[in-house]
Parts: sequence; C-alpha cells; structure tokens
Amino acid sequence: MQEGTTLARHTKADGRRAFTAPRTPFGNRSHRAECDRKPVSGRVAAAVVAAGALATGVGAAGGGFDGGDTRFLPVAAGSDLAAALVHSTAPAQPDVRTVHAVEPAFEAAKLMRSEGLFVRQHVDQAIRHASEGFTARQAELKRQQDAAAAEQARVDAENARIAQEQARAAEQKAAEEAAAAAARRPTVVKPAEGQFTSGFGSRWGTTHYGVDIANSIGTPILSAMDGVVVEAGPASGFGLWVRVQHNDGTITIYGHVNETLVSAGQQVQAGQQIATMGNRGQSTGPHLHFEVWVNGSQKIDPVGWLGERGISL
Ligand SMILES: [Zn+2]
Repeated sequence: MQEGTTLARHTKADGRRAFTAPRTPFGNRSHRAECDRKPVSGRVAAAVVAAGALATGVGAAGGGFDGGDTRFLPVAAGSDLAAALVHSTAPAQPDVRTVHAVEPAFEAAKLMRSEGLFVRQHVDQAIRHASEGFTARQAELKRQQDAAAAEQARVDAENARIAQEQARAAEQKAAEEAAAAAARRPTVVKPAEGQFTSGFGSRWGTTHYGVDIANSIGTPILSAMDGVVVEAGPASGFGLWVRVQHNDGTITIYGHVNETLVSAGQQVQAGQQIATMGNRGQSTGPHLHFEVWVNGSQKIDPVGWLGERGISL
C-alpha cells in the first residue's frame, strides 16, 4: 500500500455502506464515491483498493505530477469500476472463481486407472496386430509353398510329357530303322560262294536232284531265304544236312556239310549262316549239294528257282 493511501468507510443514515476512493497525497484530485450509490461487494471493494494503489504507483512511476491528472482514473463504485479496471494496466482479475475439490489420491487413482486402461488398450491392439500379422505371414507362406508345389508339379508334368514324347519318338525311330533294315535285307541269297560243278538232272545213270558248288571245307553256307530249320543232322548219302522250310512251303536242302550251326525249329533269315562246307557222305570233294523242294516234296532245278529270284550260279 502506497503511502498516503487510505480507505474511508462511511455509514449513511440508511445504514448502507459506501466507499470513497483512496485518498492520495494530492487531495482534491481524487474523486469521492457517491454515497447514494448501491454498495459494492467486498471483492469489488478490494479491487477498488488495488486499483487505487496501482494508480498511485503508476503516477509515481510516471515521474511525478505536473498538474495534469490524466494518469489518474476516476475510481468510483458501481459500473465505473469496471471501466476503471479495463483501463488499468493491471491484469484483469476474474470475477468468478471455480472451486475444485481435489482429492490427490483419488485423482491419482483415476489417472492411473485411465492410464492403465489406455496402456492395456494399446497392448491389446499390439497383440491383435501381431496376431493378425502372424496369420497374414502364415497365409502368405502357405500361398508361396502352394505356388512352389504347383510349379514343381507343372515342371514334373512337363518333364514327364517330354520323356514320354522322347520315348515315343525313340520307339518310332527304332520301328522305322527295323523296317528299313528289313527292306534292305535280301529275300533270297546265294547259298555258298564257290564253283558251280554239277547241275540238276541225269548224271551217271541216275538223277542228280540238286546243284553242286565246290569250295574249301569251312566255307560258310547260308540260308537261301527266311524260314524255319526243320532238320539239322545226319542224312543218308549226305553225311550231314540241314533242311529249311520257307514261308511259301518251299524247302531248301544243304548236304555234305562239315558242321551244322543251327538246330531243328530255329528261325533263320536269308543270308544267315547255318553250316560250313564239308565232304561228308557220298562226295568226291568238298562242296555244297543244294536242292529245292517246291511244296515241300517236288524237287526242281535250283538254277531256275534262284534265277527267278535274281541269283545266278
Ligand atoms: Zn550234289
């Protein structure tokens, strides 16, 4: 409180109280409050006092008074007070107070509970997110595994298809080669290489039912056509012989052989060696006696039979 500032309190005849503005050392410059105005509340009265003090302070800070009173504000009661407060440089004081009844422990508990709920909510959310992420990753992993398995199955199927194609191609190639080989294979061959020494017909008072081809012992003797061996072994007058029956029923005879290389029932091909040349039986030297039996029994001249098939002796 500044020096010289006073607060006068008056009581009027009607018993109501009125206030005067704080007196200052400058006397008449201050204004008196109108006594017939309505009394203000205690808080407003305190504000009046504070405003007066402030006004005084401002005046002092202003470097004294030179006759003017512009720095002083008329302080009165009632509505003028609000204007005075507004014009004052002092911060306005709130006219209404809000009273909080604070129980620290209770507030702390509420805060902790709230924070706990908040944290728990976040933890739950994080767990849910983690679970969802795990599920998503598992699903993605399974999707990748399924895709890999499908790709592997596709590759396997493709490989199997390729292998099957290759096998089919190889089989076809083998069949074609066999057919080509069969086409190249002769149907009729000369039964032995050598010198034609005797033909079919009458000879020395008897009939010679074949042809003789002379060569050294061991010369290969070949089956003239494809067929089945019907006999391979000893024969009267021929020493050893081999008989082969062909598909058309014709039988060819190979006599005086030194060694048979096939046995009865064996399938032979044209040109396949079936025996070696010999001098067994009634023979005057190593040679092949060759006969052709048409229809299995009719003996014909082998020269004509071979000649019809492109073979000359
Ligand atoms: Zn003969």
